[in-house]
Amino acid sequence: MLNKKTVRDVQVSGKRVLVRCDFNVPLDKENPNKITSDKRIVESLKTINYLINAGARVILCSHLGKTGQNKSLAPVAKRLSELLEKDVPLLKDILSQETKDFVMNMNDGDVCLLENTRMYEEEEANDAEFSRKLASLGELFVNDAFGSAHRAHASTEGVTHYLPSVAGFLIEKEIAALDGGINNPKRPLVAIVGGSKVSSKIAVLTNLLDKVDTLLIGGAMTYTFVKAQGGNVGRSLVEDDKIDVAKEILKKAEEKNVKFILPVDTMAADDMTEVANVMVCEPYDIPDDYMGLDIGPKTIELFKAEIALAGTVVWNGPVGVFEISKFATGTNEIANAMAQSDAVTIIGGGDSAAAVEKAGLSDQMSHVSTGGGASLELMEGKKLPGIEALEDKDE
Ligand code: ADP
Ligand code: MG
Repeated sequence: MLNKKTVRDVQVSGKRVLVRCDFNVPLDKENPNKITSDKRIVESLKTINYLINAGARVILCSHLGKTGQNKSLAPVAKRLSELLEKDVPLLKDILSQETKDFVMNMNDGDVCLLENTRMYEEEEANDAEFSRKLASLGELFVNDAFGSAHRAHASTEGVTHYLPSVAGFLIEKEIAALDGGINNPKRPLVAIVGGSKVSSKIAVLTNLLDKVDTLLIGGAMTYTFVKAQGGNVGRSLVEDDKIDVAKEILKKAEEKNVKFILPVDTMAADDMTEVANVMVCEPYDIPDDYMGLDIGPKTIELFKAEIALAGTVVWNGPVGVFEISKFATGTNEIANAMAQSDAVTIIGGGDSAAAVEKAGLSDQMSHVSTGGGASLELMEGKKLPGIEALEDKDE
């Protein structure tokens, strides 16, 4: 559970409240003014509306894209004003006197949005002076940017040194779902871990082995585990320098009595394309010129049976190359099985959330995290600096 104060625990009426949101939304490549998913904006509305209704003066801020790209938050301001049915002026220069004057003259219930914090190099450097100036616009700081909470940047961590700081409702919801799902789950707890690399999931696997009853492995990391057990994996993606780590994880799973299930069959192909030749084979016996790109039909059934028995299912990492429809079957079947299950279903990880969204099943999950990196770090058992910096709840 979140042991930090939230907007409910503080007086906000009449105050200038600086709110860090995660408005790092995907934009259309052809038309950079077009937002392709407004999920992150929609998820921030609960906190914003609460503050408006409580009579706060709401000063929103966020990053968008990478430092140096200088993307404007103008499309976000537009979408926000549609969703809030309210004018949301975009203040173009965070550090200008004009911006200072604007916020000093806001009325209760007004909302404005500061331009992209990553237009300033000081943001990622967590520069103290920049943090102080940003903080000087508000009288209270609310962090609701779960997707950025794993970063100690000026607008997520730096400002907390200068203002009383509490969490918003989205952070509260994400922590309740992800932390609750892993550390206080309805059992049995089944985790599905896929994705491309063992190396990026070692910490997740290690942490989950202490928590789960069952661990289902999919994705490319399968083949590092299979190779560690002496199988022939053909041209599948293998991290040879992680074979020892894979062996250790297998050993730990046995010691901890975790049901550790690797795929029993694989959809292998001679190329990573829509027109490749494919065959179903054992992951231990993949022909030299083929590579494993999805779980096979028997594995899908096996995983579905485990999902059906679960009290809680946590999923991080697609089980195949879901971007290519020929290798998306396993990922879609897992998503369907989770959607149909009565278990608490939690999706963490950017690509996994994208896969569920693409399948149109987001609404049928208990929780789809808005934070890829942040949810991964929580599953690794790490503390998130943007949350740690907030005020502790009174005992
Ligand atoms: P998440 O963002 O949910 O944490 P990852 O970033 O770890 O997930 O992994 C997603 C990527 O893993 C996808 O781009 C997918 O194509 C890739 N992937 C899954 N299975 C395989 C495979 N068998 N071979 C190569 N890449 C794979
Ligand atoms: Mg990813």
